[in-house]
Amino acid sequence: MTVAADFEALYGAAPDGVWAAPGRVNLIGEYTDFNDGFVLPLALPHTTVAAVSRRDDGVLRLHSGDVDGGIVQLDVEALDPLSGGGWAAYPAGVVWALRAAGHPVTGADVHLASTVPTGAGLSSSAALEVVTALALNDLFGLGLTRPELARIAQRAENDFVGVPCGVMDQMASACAVEGHALHLDTRDLSYRQVPFDLAAEGLALLVVDTRVKHALGDGAYAERRAGCEAGARALGVRALRDVDAAHLPAALERLSDGTILRYVRHVVSDNDRVVRVIALLDAGATRSVGPVLTDGHASLRDDLRVSCPELDLVVEAANAAGALGARMTGGGFGGSAVVLVEEERAEEITAAVRKAFAGAGYAEPGIFPAVPSAGARRL
Ligand code: ADP
Ligand code: MG
Repeated sequence: MTVAADFEALYGAAPDGVWAAPGRVNLIGEYTDFNDGFVLPLALPHTTVAAVSRRDDGVLRLHSGDVDGGIVQLDVEALDPLSGGGWAAYPAGVVWALRAAGHPVTGADVHLASTVPTGAGLSSSAALEVVTALALNDLFGLGLTRPELARIAQRAENDFVGVPCGVMDQMASACAVEGHALHLDTRDLSYRQVPFDLAAEGLALLVVDTRVKHALGDGAYAERRAGCEAGARALGVRALRDVDAAHLPAALERLSDGTILRYVRHVVSDNDRVVRVIALLDAGATRSVGPVLTDGHASLRDDLRVSCPELDLVVEAANAAGALGARMTGGGFGGSAVVLVEEERAEEITAAVRKAFAGAGYAEPGIFPAVPSAGARRL
């Protein structure tokens, strides 16, 4: 294994072990995770692999084969939240969050290599955090559960790196099972593995990485989050997940602010789309999931307004070419879309999306099948 060999070349001894954690795509349920709602992500075959050795002298050494620059050396006693540090803040944040929760992590040597595209909305950040958390959990015998590790990873990203993300990405990376999607209730982190064996049904889920990231997205997440919280307050509920989709029209009549109304309509309807997609999957009606995905895209585009021309073009071109349905996935303003297709038509639809992008003068998108894969594990 080259990650272990690279570790040995860097640090002069073989690692204690090697771990892997995947990136993810979310099938449905977008911007629902900070509303205590449901999400339905699946893990990708793309993983971040970490070779790690335990240390007991307070030294943390971090190296990534995917970024320029050498080993970053830190003192575990002096880890400082929100102090920058670039990529190393993600794994350092995990050490900090574990120690802040009272776990005796006394140092480590870490070398990383990843096949998860970064900044594509496929959660390379969560893969990096979760693989670090799992390795330290094993090496220091912490005995934390997968949801507990996901919470530690989220805390690292929220409070150490300073990115206000929900917990979906870390839960997907930590808890996913091959051939399944993860129905996660973000209120209490309870979850169920929903069978999602695309190949057995002659289907494929394509990920289209638009390779764009619009700067607009930076402030938009916090603004949408604040708007949803204001909506919940106006409706007198703890979170928007407590608004039943059947009562949505009545709830909307009580909202005077047009922006908040749109946000509420998106979150309540998308939460309901998660429930409906799961019912379809449980009933073996996977093809019928397609139109629900496309409806979800329209809601993200028109109500939440977090899409962008490139994502809209993926959905439009794929559906025009005969896809079963498509939507943007992740935070939007660029990043990736998912497209549900008959496997035998995957090539044709891929070509149609590429042609539409070329015609619009956009950069060539990255397109690959999202095979529902395993969550984090020791190799
Ligand atoms: P996403 O999670 O959608 O890929 P983010 O912006 O949340 O995008 O996280 C990407 C960042 O995570 C990178 O800019 C880098 O700092 C860090 N990162 C992810 N994977 C690696 C890796 N293999 N090596 C070093 N840093 C990484
Ligand atoms: Mg991320």
